Amino acid sequence: MHQVSDIVAGIFISKIYLSLFGFRLFDIPVNVTTFLLLLLAQDFCYYFLHRCSHRIRWMWAAHSVHHSSENMNFSTAFRQSLMYPLADMWLFWLPLVFIGFNPVLVVLVVLFNLALQFFVHTQAIKTLGPIEWLFNTPSHHRVHHGQNVQYIDKNYAGVLIIWDRLFGSFEAEDETVRYGLTKPINSFNPLTVTFREWRDMLGDFFVPGLSFRQRLAVLITAPKQYFPSK
Ligand SMILES: [Zn+2]
Ligand SMILES: [Zn+2]
Repeated sequence: MHQVSDIVAGIFISKIYLSLFGFRLFDIPVNVTTFLLLLLAQDFCYYFLHRCSHRIRWMWAAHSVHHSSENMNFSTAFRQSLMYPLADMWLFWLPLVFIGFNPVLVVLVVLFNLALQFFVHTQAIKTLGPIEWLFNTPSHHRVHHGQNVQYIDKNYAGVLIIWDRLFGSFEAEDETVRYGLTKPINSFNPLTVTFREWRDMLGDFFVPGLSFRQRLAVLITAPKQYFPSK
């Protein structure tokens, strides 16, 4: 479902990218240096996309599907929402196109970044030594999927963990990770998993008597965490 929605949305989004490229700020030549710069810039944008996906409920409604897995293995990487195009994921790469990076290369680098992230969804690798300092690793990403209080909203990195270290969202793996959402879905029905958070969010949005400001806040403020034992 996710793959199909991505392909359909991609047809429309590629037109937006190409037309914005016509208004680019710079003509950036394609060479090894600019390609490395693009890798770095895209990973930086990914960090903010991922951080926003956890802190803005409209985006969390899509991203929560990935976090609904209570296991951690390669199949978790494929547990993704078909609602990502509506949750604005594609918006975060627009600045790269507007600066002047070739849109085809931007899309390739996005796919490369996401493909690398497949490998961090495993419990088979404990630590990778000094690599842990620079790169997102299985250990760092296990923390990201934890529902333990200290692991919530940590380690947003795509490929480089340096963004979390720089912006104060890094947490090392210490306590055994409990995977999944703090508010479990208790269903394997893909439609239930896809739309549960959208349903809850729209339920809060349509509560009678709210002001416009309060309704807007439901959509753009952070999702509430849920700890039944607390
Ligand atoms: Zn996440
Ligand atoms: Zn993940």
